[in-house]
Amino acid sequence: NSLSISPTTTVQSPLQIFVRAKKRINDIFGEVEIYIGDASKFFHALPQDSDLTSQEEVAVVDGHGEKIKGIREVLARDHMKVAFFGRTSNGKSTVINSMLRERILPSGIGHTTNCFIQVEGSENGESYLICEDSDERKNVKSVSQLAHSLCTDSLGDSSLVRVYWPTDKCPLLRDDVVLVDSPGIDVSPNLDSWIDRHCLDADVFVLVANSESTLMLTEKNFFFKVSARLSKPNVFVLNNRWDASANEPEYLEEVRKQHLLRTVDFLVDELKVCATRTEAEQRVFFVSAKEVLQARINEFKGVPINTGMVADGFHSRYFEFQDFERKFEECISKSAVRTKFDHHTKRGKAIVSDTRNVMEALLERASAKKATKGQSRREVLDHLDFTEKQLQLVTVEMKDKICKMVEEVEHKVSKALSD
Ligand code: GDP
Repeated sequence: NSLSISPTTTVQSPLQIFVRAKKRINDIFGEVEIYIGDASKFFHALPQDSDLTSQEEVAVVDGHGEKIKGIREVLARDHMKVAFFGRTSNGKSTVINSMLRERILPSGIGHTTNCFIQVEGSENGESYLICEDSDERKNVKSVSQLAHSLCTDSLGDSSLVRVYWPTDKCPLLRDDVVLVDSPGIDVSPNLDSWIDRHCLDADVFVLVANSESTLMLTEKNFFFKVSARLSKPNVFVLNNRWDASANEPEYLEEVRKQHLLRTVDFLVDELKVCATRTEAEQRVFFVSAKEVLQARINEFKGVPINTGMVADGFHSRYFEFQDFERKFEECISKSAVRTKFDHHTKRGKAIVSDTRNVMEALLERASAKKATKGQSRREVLDHLDFTEKQLQLVTVEMKDKICKMVEEVEHKVSKALSD
């Protein structure tokens, strides 16, 4: 009886919360950019010798245009970032490969990850890598080629290699998730520099632990350091290699209970990243990344996965991995919307309301000027009339649109956050 396992990422993937919010916010900033561009054009078109506006005001509006452009550039690069940590050989690379449904990262004996490797979607369907200190794209066609590149380059353990991979087989990459593999936390003395360089913008951390042993002090200490720098990081714990438990079914429940208890203690009482034990229990999983990877590779090839080599309990371990993926997707998507877009929205609102103030001040000045110059000179009056009408038109219309936009951004962001 062959197994049929449905893909975890469907149309309703929780990752869509982020993907949709990013598109919406980008559209809104696109409109804001047009309006601020219009305002800038208007200021530049005012007569140079008029005392209606100053060079400073023109510079303020132009500067806001640049800032909006900058926000849009950052927005385009915004993604959801998950970083994997754990001791050497606990299975970090295998977990990442399972989530990507493909053997991308080298794993196993002789393939110890000795630098940070960030896997992200490639825009042009090609696979290549870029090292930190150069812009050169190195072609990567296979895992062994990637392993070779990582070995031959003398990379420091804090350095980063970006691997760009086609998104067709990897829904996570298509949906803007980037996955970061790290060297074993047991071998590096540079943990502080790791955190500064690679962790501060991570939305989720996954500790890949070994279910054959208890959580180690090195593993705990690393997360204490992380949580000292970030307020309440999102931490998931994968007790990997749970297939080994199949050899000792009589102890299975007992071992699981003990691991769960200790890990929950760690998350709630020691690390204080979860408020309740129930919340923490939703962050701990017992899985076998190796089995999941093999199953997914077989499934892709159309080969049955139960070749007789699968250990007892495979199904429940597989489902637990899927459960982890679902909860992980929900968590990362919401967290990234909150941390990344909330910041953009606040900046956008400040820029928009400042532009509105400048426009309103200009309108007031134009009206006052019209009143004082009064009846004296017909052409000045005509000119001011024209300016005032234009201003009113632009200001009122823009104010309306900008107000609406701000409200819309707020509404959409809060909706995305509460979804
Ligand atoms: P890393 O150093 O943490 O990245 O570990 P790797 O992903 O390279 O895995 C180290 C070795 O453990 C490899 O030979 C994997 O095939 C094996 N491995 C990974 N996950 C599992 C698992 O769930 N069960 C078993 N039995 N072996 C695993």
